Amino acid sequence: ASGLMAGKRGLIMGLANDKSIAWGIAKALAAGGAELAFSYQGEALKKRVGPLAAQLGSEMVLPCDVGDEDSIDALFEQLQKEWGKLDFLVHAIGFSDKEQLRGRYAETTRDNFRATMDISVYSFTAVARRAAAMMPDGGSMVTLTYYGAERVMPHYNVMGVAKAALEASVRYLAEDFGKDGIRVNAISAGPIKTLAASGIGDFRYIMKWNELNSPLRRNVNQQDVGNSALYLLSDLGSGVTGETHHVDAGYHVVGMKAVDAPDI
Ligand code: NAD
Repeated sequence: ASGLMAGKRGLIMGLANDKSIAWGIAKALAAGGAELAFSYQGEALKKRVGPLAAQLGSEMVLPCDVGDEDSIDALFEQLQKEWGKLDFLVHAIGFSDKEQLRGRYAETTRDNFRATMDISVYSFTAVARRAAAMMPDGGSMVTLTYYGAERVMPHYNVMGVAKAALEASVRYLAEDFGKDGIRVNAISAGPIKTLAASGIGDFRYIMKWNELNSPLRRNVNQQDVGNSALYLLSDLGSGVTGETHHVDAGYHVVGMKAVDAPDI
């Protein structure tokens, strides 16, 4: 991978700790020679994100709460000042009240529906618009989604509805920015144990089910997602936009549990 990202600069949003999907992506991009900036949510995360960024040679560690337009503006003003232009953007951010990531979708409240859509869907559109304005030579953007957008998965609930909207927004953004040579794609990752995932009901069971029933008979990890992000964010993905690319050990193609899979 070395050299694939040489001379490219980009922003990684959504790094919380070394289990984050954003960390797997950041490591793959850095190995490819990219120069990285990171945004983090809230002061508490700064002391986690700072040292991780330093490991990859980055000192650009900036605060941003994507629920706040002023905070997003401040982030992009800073990037504009420091770098002037961007080549890529990674959006690995999602949020929902975890009390509603269990039980029935039907109980979703209006407030949590709004908050989930705002942070998990609109935030990508909000940052994509600002990032695109900094990509005069074209660029590439990736966000993270999950199969619960396409099919009913236990406990995913309102997050599944939000991811469906996120995937639709990827297609519209791909059209909006395509004329400027900017590509927009989603990676639909299989279940991975992270901070955000630990809020989902029966997550261990979901992971076990995927491991036993996916064509590769294993779960994916942060590195699998990082490698695919590297493809989409580098020139290797030059002909790909508007896509939801599954990095899920093939789980999404399976229609029925295999005979060799034991009962769980
Ligand atoms: P994570 O907890 O490491 O990352 C989630 C990030 O979202 C955190 O860094 C958090 O700070 C950030 N965030 C939440 N609200 C924010 C706000 N208002 N402003 C700024 N940042 C905010 O978990 P993760 O699993 O790495 O999640 C990254 C993305 O991957 C999410 O979109 C998630 O839905 C998606 N995803 C995860 C899985 C999985 O199984 N872990 C599978 C498919 C997709």
